[in-house]
Amino acid sequence: MEPTKKNQMIPGRRAVLRLAAVLGAVGLARLMTTGDTHTPVRPATGSPPAGASPSGSPTAGPSAAGPPPAGATAAGAPPALPAGSSAYRLSPMTEFQPPGYRPARLPVRTEPFMAMPDLGRSIVLTFDDGPDPKYTPGILKTLRAHDVRAMFFVCGQMAKGQGDLLREMADDGHIVANHSWSHPELPTLKPARIREEMERTSEVIDRTLGLPPVWFRAPYGSWNRHTFKIGAELGMEPLAWTLDTLDWKSPGTGKIVRRVLDGAAPGVVVLSHDAGGDRSQSVAALRDYLPRLLKKGYGITVPRRGYGITVPKS
Ligand SMILES: [Zn+2]
Repeated sequence: MEPTKKNQMIPGRRAVLRLAAVLGAVGLARLMTTGDTHTPVRPATGSPPAGASPSGSPTAGPSAAGPPPAGATAAGAPPALPAGSSAYRLSPMTEFQPPGYRPARLPVRTEPFMAMPDLGRSIVLTFDDGPDPKYTPGILKTLRAHDVRAMFFVCGQMAKGQGDLLREMADDGHIVANHSWSHPELPTLKPARIREEMERTSEVIDRTLGLPPVWFRAPYGSWNRHTFKIGAELGMEPLAWTLDTLDWKSPGTGKIVRRVLDGAAPGVVVLSHDAGGDRSQSVAALRDYLPRLLKKGYGITVPRRGYGITVPKS
């Protein structure tokens, strides 16, 4: 990677890491919530979402406090990256560090978040697989009309040529998150390929928006310990979902609406799609259920770390 590109990307990465270092684990959890709540979000417990494959090994957790990554230097500038490597291979922040400083690392989880509890009467809407210029604008239009924020888990190969849509998401305060490059079943790949899938997508988002994503979702809800570990190394938390609208089966707009309204509850994370096929029902359903959720007194919210929301500078 040429130096100019690297330099453009490092500040965002640094800001996230520095923020994490300043806030520590509790602060990080607080950041994941919106509004005035100060209760940390806990990882959801219970069985994984439908379709999820067995995830994680018991050894995944403690490695969060493991040794610094290869290439770490004790002082001075970040280590030079070998040709072809990426700025996302964690390089520690070595400037302005007190003695004994250790770079902040996200915890390596053994399961994804499946809900956003402690947000009050709020629901998180998520849209996967895009952006698609045919359907994403309709989703954005409805969200804008009701002045609410959502999360878009984009695939790198879709996002690559859709910088304007990505910027529109960020400008409207939505969270742009990582859904791999080409939507493979990640656990079937070697760790190096998993990293490539996730890293390339983070790079596209970073180059377009100036900050790397801080959330990722494995395609098909299919996680393994490598996805958690690599995600953490790239500065991302794993988010699954609570409620699958099954909109990708094109079951009819009415059915999608009914599923959302029936499944609505505080902290629920709703899975929909804005790409990957004919998503006109997903677009139409949102137009229908969103005002009805609001009328029922639900807030529509996003976790607070991410784009469109000011990240404090330290
Ligand atoms: Zn997907």
